[in-house]
Amino acid sequence: MQIKSPQFKENARIALHNVELQEALGQFKHGFPVNRANAIKRLPEFDDLRDAGRDLKNHIIQNLDIYLEQFESKVIENGGHVHWCRTAEDANKTILDICKQVDAKTVTKGKSMVSEEINLNDYLEANGVQPVETDLGEYILQLRGDHPSHIIAPAIHLNVEDVSEAFHTHHKRPKTGDPQALMKEAREVLRKQFVSADVGITGANFLVAETGSTIIVTNEGNGDLTQTLPKTHIVITSIEKVVPTLEDMSLFLRLLARSATGQEFTVYNTLSSGPRRAEDQDGPENFHVVLVDNGRSEMVGTEFQEMLRCIRCSSCMNHCPVYGAVGGHSYGWVYPGPMGSVLTPKMIGIDKAAHLPNASTSCGKCEEVCPVRIPLPKMMRHWREKEFEKHLTPKAVRFGIAGWAYFAKRPALYRWLARSSAWFMQKMAGKKGRINKLPLAGGWTDWRDMPAPQGKTFMDQWQAKQKAGE
Ligand code: SF4
Repeated sequence: MQIKSPQFKENARIALHNVELQEALGQFKHGFPVNRANAIKRLPEFDDLRDAGRDLKNHIIQNLDIYLEQFESKVIENGGHVHWCRTAEDANKTILDICKQVDAKTVTKGKSMVSEEINLNDYLEANGVQPVETDLGEYILQLRGDHPSHIIAPAIHLNVEDVSEAFHTHHKRPKTGDPQALMKEAREVLRKQFVSADVGITGANFLVAETGSTIIVTNEGNGDLTQTLPKTHIVITSIEKVVPTLEDMSLFLRLLARSATGQEFTVYNTLSSGPRRAEDQDGPENFHVVLVDNGRSEMVGTEFQEMLRCIRCSSCMNHCPVYGAVGGHSYGWVYPGPMGSVLTPKMIGIDKAAHLPNASTSCGKCEEVCPVRIPLPKMMRHWREKEFEKHLTPKAVRFGIAGWAYFAKRPALYRWLARSSAWFMQKMAGKKGRINKLPLAGGWTDWRDMPAPQGKTFMDQWQAKQKAGE
């Protein structure tokens, strides 16, 4: 996927003028957040589960090597293989090698954000292996040559006409605006792919160290077909997904479903524990787990370590006013919303992603709804500090901060300036009390009026109260 994060401002401007996208985002805001709120009401111990999830994830990160090695030895014991990949390139090459070993021409794929992160589809296609996405949203995007704009609802930016157009072009069937008919059509086309694929590639929501199992959760059941029908099953996943036991996994599944879609439980929770055994009726003959690091181990011991607790539920973006206004593509890479504003600078570099941690109102809603209590606003501030240290902040902003610091260190001058500015703005606003053009504040007043300050400044009120002995 081409990196477009440096163009965040331009992307956002286009998104704000895209009527179809704004309609889709308008509906989306009333879906997942409302469902989550209702699901939580039905589970009084939800906050206790969040604390337990946070503590358990912290423990896992501190002992990541131990649990990953335990997971590896169990997979081998079960007859599977584990491949350790430090970089995206290593992971792509490993998967291609496995495909070549079994002479694969086509692979079916369950949804996997890690595979988006390493650009797996393009790599396989360039090397003669045809990937077919089987998650409905991902399948639609693949037909359109598009990319996910949300981590669990990848095609949230599209409407039924877009889907109908894509199916008509690729399936050569009449157009229809009936979502049920479109779903049936996709099912018919994908069934053939499931049966004929040489390899199935899925992601994993969690890896269980005590059993060597991987688990994928879906609402469509495509994960089951992808991993049980082809002769070879490859799981591509990142290292922080490991959990110690099946019981720990169930804790995170309870948090995940409620935080993501507001379901009590996701419809399909499919565990894989190695290749098929003699007594099994189905399942793959070969089982591989590709463990991707891609910069994650470097986050351990840094101010970004807590980000490794993320269970990819999407709750932070579902509640984010910035994501809700500009959609996922504006962020310009794989991970959008608040979690993306922390992860993306780590993965592609703060020099390319500096806009993202600044694209935040710092309202704190993301942290409030995160099931594992990740302090996302704090980490976005860390990235802003790094941006400033590396002199990536625009000159106007640096100049503005330096000017503010000059006055802030001189309280009398600061008070005089605050008083004069308030007076000046009140005069500008007149009887309406609103300013529609303000020098140096075009970023605000180009889009909406600015309310003029009312009454006295805070310091003047404070001093008056002190004098009055209140
Ligand atoms: S940061 Fe928290 S809320 Fe956002 S996707 Fe990760 S776990 Fe979910």
